[in-house]
Amino acid sequence: MDAPPHEAAVSAARQEAARLAAMDIHGVAMTWVDNSGIARVKAVPTARLAHAVQWGVGMSPVFDVYLSDDSAVTSRHIGGPDGDLRLFPDLDRLTVLAAQPGWAWAPADRYEQDGTPYAACQRGFARRMAERAAQAGLELRMGHETEWVVTHAAPPAGGKPDAEEGGAAAGRAPRYAGPGPAYGMTRIVGLSDYVRDVLQALADQGIDVLQIHPEYSPGQFEVSTAPAGPVTAADHAVLVRETIRAVSVRHGLHATFAPVVEPGAVGNGAHLHLSLWRNGSNLCRGGDGPSGMTRPGEAFLAGILQELPALVAITAPHPAGYLRLAPSRWAGAFHCWGPENREAALRFIPGPAREAGSANAELKCIDATANPYLTAGAVIAAGLNGIEQDLTLPAPVSGDPAVTRAAVPRLPSSLPEALEHFRGSALLRDALGEPLYEAFLAVREGEHARTEHHTPEALVSGLRDQY
Ligand code: GLU
Ligand code: MG
Repeated sequence: MDAPPHEAAVSAARQEAARLAAMDIHGVAMTWVDNSGIARVKAVPTARLAHAVQWGVGMSPVFDVYLSDDSAVTSRHIGGPDGDLRLFPDLDRLTVLAAQPGWAWAPADRYEQDGTPYAACQRGFARRMAERAAQAGLELRMGHETEWVVTHAAPPAGGKPDAEEGGAAAGRAPRYAGPGPAYGMTRIVGLSDYVRDVLQALADQGIDVLQIHPEYSPGQFEVSTAPAGPVTAADHAVLVRETIRAVSVRHGLHATFAPVVEPGAVGNGAHLHLSLWRNGSNLCRGGDGPSGMTRPGEAFLAGILQELPALVAITAPHPAGYLRLAPSRWAGAFHCWGPENREAALRFIPGPAREAGSANAELKCIDATANPYLTAGAVIAAGLNGIEQDLTLPAPVSGDPAVTRAAVPRLPSSLPEALEHFRGSALLRDALGEPLYEAFLAVREGEHARTEHHTPEALVSGLRDQY
């Protein structure tokens, strides 16, 4: 993206604003996602949209060192009360919000006040890495899965702090909505209007839903969406989450995407499906490598696999994520790959023989405290390195290593362990660039220091309302 303002974009924004105003849209929410995976927002009245596209909207860089409880740390390049950035809404993604009448949404890119790209912009990082792939003649298709747990909403502040009344607020036991067994139709019947409204809102917003189903834990659902380019897919991940949240509010329910809602239970994943393409053909298919991968397809996945212990700092960046990332929960706790193996961190999906485009890999060791733009960019950087180094995949793993007792290494089982690998990753440091790398690391270290002595219950209860 060239430095704003762009004249054509400003005039397009005027037309968009007129179109939105005619639809009674009064506000445009502009989001970006911070290093804790939280979508932060500035909103403008529709009438100010063209102004925002021309000049941007101010926002402090300090949010790049915010922890998930809204306290701030500091880092070498970013921190403290000084400075300001400009948020520029991406008009190509401008979406009328189906579950928030009167509102539209657009993801934002962040720039310095002098118009140069902001080095720590996570969306800019994802775009840079996608461009790096394009320079090698490669294209990524990505699709995020979204898992969430629905509870009855908490009583208003000042209400009885009673477990019977309470829902998702910190410190109270969640009261799950959506009765019945895992993957059971009972849950779709019980929350019929709610699930329909989720589907309808996503369709109205142009999000192509592949499937929706009740998941393993009480009140848990999952929706998966069609693959798209890496930046678009990350935008969709944000939009899907906020749409589900909005539909939930309209139904008097509360949606949480927190990695774990109650310690010991199966958590919420945010798995990423990806495939690598060249000149319109899927490199995960049609080759003579493992599971029919092409040579570059295999090398790309081998690059991801090699970097996984460090990548996990990005894909499971909150200490609570390690309560989720445990064996025998399909969360991807083992450092291995395997065709259709749901215990492998990297599950390979050959896809139906008749659907050549469908072969893809699913990276499972991800939860929703991960910033989807950072995940996309870091995965691409690791995959491209695999191609440069001509890496090959080790033997695939089948079965659950926790049951078969096969000698398969675990991924890091705590944030400090993941951070040790992350600090040692020259690849991720180079790809992220120092300001973003340092800020991300400071936030992760701060999050660990803040929660080091928390009980599992304290760790997760604080997250139900934050994510
Ligand atoms: N809920 C599981 C997780 O924590 C994933 C279940 C699935 O494979 O869809 O990642
Ligand atoms: Mg699932």
